[in-house]
Amino acid sequence: MIAGAGGFIGGALTRYYRERGWRHIRAVDKKPPAEWYQRVADVECVRLDLSVEADCRRAVDGAAEVYNLAADMGGMGFIEKFRIDCMRNILINTHLIEAACAARVGRYFFASSACVYNTDLQSDPEVTALKESDAYPAMAERGYGWEKLLSEMFCQEYWAERGLKTSIARLHNVYGPHGCWEGGREKAPAAICRKVVEAVHEQTGCIVVWGDGNATRSFTYVDDCVVGIDRIAHCDALIATPVNLGSSELVSVDELVSKVERIAGVGLERRYDLRSPTGVAGRNSDNTFIRQALGWEPSTTLDVGLAATYAWIEGQYLARHASHSRSFA
Ligand code: NAD
Repeated sequence: MIAGAGGFIGGALTRYYRERGWRHIRAVDKKPPAEWYQRVADVECVRLDLSVEADCRRAVDGAAEVYNLAADMGGMGFIEKFRIDCMRNILINTHLIEAACAARVGRYFFASSACVYNTDLQSDPEVTALKESDAYPAMAERGYGWEKLLSEMFCQEYWAERGLKTSIARLHNVYGPHGCWEGGREKAPAAICRKVVEAVHEQTGCIVVWGDGNATRSFTYVDDCVVGIDRIAHCDALIATPVNLGSSELVSVDELVSKVERIAGVGLERRYDLRSPTGVAGRNSDNTFIRQALGWEPSTTLDVGLAATYAWIEGQYLARHASHSRSFA
């Protein structure tokens, strides 16, 4: 059972497992199926609200494995503005893990986040990459990060006290096709691709960049993310152990913009919006532990992943405009 399957990563995970021949996949989301980013053939699609206990019991009925990728979330613009909604995600994991344990599922995966890390360690763009132990002493990102940290603890205690095999991946800025690219929940890579697409097709010649362009991050391509989830969820040595799932290719926001400009074949005037939400100054993933545990880490370069993301967003943009032109014709 994949929770949040109508979303970006849940949709990609559903497709990944189906393409590997898994059968009997139940995909669950609270959005109506017509609004899911991906619909995968031969998968049971169910609309349930997993913040409701009874819906969680229905979702896990008969499940061998449960993947929790359901959350009310978005980029910095969303998580800095809607902290209460982010904290209320605690209801989803709390009810879902209890239902999974009661139904005696074999494995339970939780999508945590790099936002659990102590923000005091991320005040400089010249970051030291974050290793798993850097979450404590805790000073997580307000709202969203604290919810993730507490849900991690639920996963650890359900293993310690009740023997439920849980897995916890701390995802670092996942991007790629079939995700949110407009409307306020999109994250930096999708937002920048969209702004460059708009600048190209509307010939504006400029781009508005949030912050001063110096903040640094690493960005993880969605194909690497779903492989990582599969590997982490099926590794007994990682039960109840938070592990970074992220790229370690660090770039500044300005470098990210330059990469997208090169893909689009343009150079744009940059206007920096210093009042917009930007999050911590710098953040990178230390992959020492995942390499030791799995002999693997995300490896898709940002250039390769961004090219695929840009092409997909440009396709969405053009399709949107073609349908607008048809309706006004
Ligand atoms: P997303 O917003 O694309 O998908 C989340 C899905 O959960 C949405 O389709 C939403 O409708 C669904 N959902 C929300 N509340 C629900 C509820 N009560 N019941 C059922 N479904 C509900 O987000 P995503 O990028 O795919 O993220 C998936 C998970 O990974 C989330 O837990 C997120 O916090 C975590 N994560 C994502 C990133 C990232 O960069 N995308 C980074 C760190 C952690």
